[in-house]
Amino acid sequence: MKTIIEPFKIKVVEPIRMTTRSERERILAEAGYNLFLVHSDDVLIDLLTDSGTAAMSHEQWAGIMRGDEAYACSRSWYRFLETVRSIFGFRHVIPTHQGRAAERILFSVLCKPGDVVPNNTHFDTTRANIEYRGAEARDLLRPEALETGRPLPFKGDMDTEALERLIDEVGTERIPLVMLTVTNNSGGGQPVSMANIRAVSEIAHRHGIPFYLDACRFAENAYFIQQREPGYADRSVREIAREMFSLADGCTMSAKKDGLVNIGGFLCTNDDRLAEQERDLLILTEGFPTYGGLAGRDLEAIAIGLEEVLHEDYLTYRIASTSYLGRRIADAGVPIVQPPGGHAIYIDAKAMLPQIPPLEFPGQALSVELYHEAGIRSVEIGSVMFARRDPDTGVEQPAPMELVRLAIPRRVYTQSHIDYVVEAILEVHRKREKLRGYRIVHQAPFLRHFTARFEPV
Ligand SMILES: *Cc1c(COP(=O)(O)O)cnc(C)c1O
Repeated sequence: MKTIIEPFKIKVVEPIRMTTRSERERILAEAGYNLFLVHSDDVLIDLLTDSGTAAMSHEQWAGIMRGDEAYACSRSWYRFLETVRSIFGFRHVIPTHQGRAAERILFSVLCKPGDVVPNNTHFDTTRANIEYRGAEARDLLRPEALETGRPLPFKGDMDTEALERLIDEVGTERIPLVMLTVTNNSGGGQPVSMANIRAVSEIAHRHGIPFYLDACRFAENAYFIQQREPGYADRSVREIAREMFSLADGCTMSAKKDGLVNIGGFLCTNDDRLAEQERDLLILTEGFPTYGGLAGRDLEAIAIGLEEVLHEDYLTYRIASTSYLGRRIADAGVPIVQPPGGHAIYIDAKAMLPQIPPLEFPGQALSVELYHEAGIRSVEIGSVMFARRDPDTGVEQPAPMELVRLAIPRRVYTQSHIDYVVEAILEVHRKREKLRGYRIVHQAPFLRHFTARFEPV
């Protein structure tokens, strides 16, 4: 059988509306050619992010009604606690309103100025929360992973030799924890192998350093291990997830990814003393330790989502759908980051649009054209987001890569939606020589990609 079918049927629908090309031209001009400024009602297929965009199941919606809103020790809290403990296996579970709140609490307790935190690749909020504490966030991805066209099975693996060197160089007292992000968000969710998780855990523990997982896409990572790593084909995804967590001392989690909900997160640890300090901070800014920043109904929906995300028919559909999109466009000659990741496909806009210089933003040009052509919203991850301005000369240095990310929300789009996205990308690819770059006409001093306005060159 070749057709990918969704392992669910649809009970509630949300209409989406196609706009005309001339409407989209007006919308783009009004939004200053920045897709962050386009009203979501004017987007046909929204691939801006996979975070908080999942569709909940009928069980989750029923859980929303069953949610117990008692301030302390609610029934929903115990259901959440038992579920997280059974899957993740950690002693202490601290609920938060989303992943970055878990990060802020963890790093507030563990990091001090001058510390260094290694990770395969820090997610941007992880990096920001470490830097906010005056510590340094160090990415130690294995170097082969930077070759975009190279289809390695576990491109999220950390360079363990670089980790050993870092520990020798700065000393254990300045490394409060070692982290691994599973899957590695950069590159579209490249998985980390069990062998690498085990090796990193051993190195950290040999030096007495705690080891944490950034677990946002733990189920997708466990599924990749089952599919790709020798010795795991006969193990369930749940068992693999338990093994991953058994190697760590704690984790941070954004339930907006593999929690299959629209908001929520948590922090786990096995360290009693740390947990006490973390709960004190939690009460200060998030809430009482049995609800964190969440309503009882949210805790209930997360508990159900964490069970559903481990269903293997769901994961088969999920990963097949992402890789189908990647394979179809790559087979037709569109340059993408290989192999396809778990939650997103990245198009290499620099390779696809060589006529557009990096500082005229080929990724932006491609992403704008995908909306113009077909009403699809993607996001530029290139020089609009990451160019660095020399503080003395004011000259801008382009980012190392010019990518466009197509992130796939969970359980939201069907096979025919994905086919439509493929057709649209191939149409833009046929016209690629006609695409022109953009210049920025207005920008904020920080995080300019959210609000910048552009005009065509
Ligand atoms: C989304 C994400 C976070 C932060 O979670 P939020 O819920 O958005 O605050 C941290 N790490 C990774 C890898 C993520 O993808």
